[in-house]
Amino acid sequence: MAVRGPAVRGGLQVLGLRLLRLDASTLMASVSDITLAEQREAQRLNARLRTASRTDALTGLPNRVAGRELVAEAVGRLRGGTHSLAVLVINVDRFTMLNTRLGTAAGDELLRQVAHRLSGALVPESWEAAQVPAARFGGDEFVALVEAPGRGEDALRAAVNLVDSLCRPYLVDGQFCHVTVSAGLVPAAAQADPDTLVEDAGLAMREAKRTGGGRLQPFDPALSQRARQRAATEADLRRALEHGGLHVAYQPIVALHSGAATGVEALARWRHPERGEVSPVEFIQVAEEAGLIGALGEFVLRSACQAFAGWRAQPGGEALQVLSVNLSRAQLSGEAQAATIAGQVQRALDASGLPAACLQLEVTESLAAQDASVQASLKALKGLGVKLALDDFGTGYSSLSSLQQLPVDVVKIDRSFVMQAESSLHHRVLIEATVMVAGSLGMHTVAEGIETPGQAALLAATGCGKGQGYLYARPMPPEQARDWLLAHRPAATAP
Ligand code: C2E
Ligand code: CA
Ligand code: CA
Repeated sequence: MAVRGPAVRGGLQVLGLRLLRLDASTLMASVSDITLAEQREAQRLNARLRTASRTDALTGLPNRVAGRELVAEAVGRLRGGTHSLAVLVINVDRFTMLNTRLGTAAGDELLRQVAHRLSGALVPESWEAAQVPAARFGGDEFVALVEAPGRGEDALRAAVNLVDSLCRPYLVDGQFCHVTVSAGLVPAAAQADPDTLVEDAGLAMREAKRTGGGRLQPFDPALSQRARQRAATEADLRRALEHGGLHVAYQPIVALHSGAATGVEALARWRHPERGEVSPVEFIQVAEEAGLIGALGEFVLRSACQAFAGWRAQPGGEALQVLSVNLSRAQLSGEAQAATIAGQVQRALDASGLPAACLQLEVTESLAAQDASVQASLKALKGLGVKLALDDFGTGYSSLSSLQQLPVDVVKIDRSFVMQAESSLHHRVLIEATVMVAGSLGMHTVAEGIETPGQAALLAATGCGKGQGYLYARPMPPEQARDWLLAHRPAATAP
């Protein structure tokens, strides 16, 4: 008897099985070559699928899943060994910006080259492992493992070299591209949990990034403590935004020649139930990182437009010309952000009845100079009829010569220049040059942080039109600001 066709053995389906009865108690079975070939093909396919599901398609490095196993295996090797292991989390600095500026194809090419340098990184010959195992954990984030003989110093040194090599220029699309990376390093113990190691190295990497990038930061337990504090601040800020714990303070801006009020700058304030007043420098950054800056910015815009329109409606209030509101990077940069921010501003104007010409939006120098999406946002805002001011001028990257490329109406000279105006000729000359160049481009100037009559006189002598600072008034709650502004309005102070 010959049986052909599908048969089931031990739960496995075998195709093309042939059975032949030799005698009453003996059967001969043969499996055709085709079935074997099919099985081998299925195995190859499975292996390919398994490799593909563990390999990052863009760079060819192990992906997050396989990378976690690499870390676990490396930690396992520590048991009984005499060598040391350092886990590194590496992230390309300002990658999103690069991707927008150069295009995603160039961004992909850059990531491939970073991966290539990582996987090609060699450790000294005397070491057992010839290469640094690395994986791409997602986006522009990589994990590398440095295993060194003996104690941790060698691993640290090798890691520093590795980061240095990643910070050398890349040749992308025929152009040299100066890119830096931030890296966090944690030394591993044999009992360490692999996920915690990657987490801690990630925390250290973010600290390296926060402090300017382009360097390696070893992990320190204080970083975890700070991260916990940050998470708590974030939760509190979220609550404050929902339940009305934020408010706006107003600092007058005056005409330098007369001291008369011309407008105000709105500044966000947060009184924390336990910590008291939190500096906006701290909570604005937390808001940016937590994706809360849109809501916070809209709150400031709405409150400030409402208050300022109310003051202008008072007798004599029409002399108040300008309400200045700060915008941060996250409010301007990113896809579709132009429509979002323009919509927010228009709604704030509509709800308050404040004319667009009375609203001025401040952006920082480093921000305005870069990024196509920021440029689109600025253009959309200009289209509404509001003014744009370049904040903190002198502290960023752009130079006087690049001022003409920026779509701004006002340049705010940073406090660090004003502070030294009396003592440093160098700073005085820079202020004079700024006022002159801005003037020649039809832009006005505002000096920030004027604290002494001497600074005020000096600034006025350079031809700078307006100023703000503790000499005139500190940021104040709305009612106090209103009274100050009305008391110092041009008509009231006119000689
Ligand atoms: P900024 O935009 O440069 O604001 C001016 C800062 O200088 C304010 O600090 C102000 O209180 C302070 N200041 C003004 N005059 C003087 C002076 O004579 N001497 C000294 N030492 N300081 C003076 P503040 O309110 O702490 O704000 C800090 C920064 O936080 C602001 O710098 C701005 O970048 C950011 N910020 C504040 N509110 C907002 C907001 O609503 N949105 C955004 N995106 N950022 C905001
Ligand atoms: Ca400002
Ligand atoms: Ca400023």
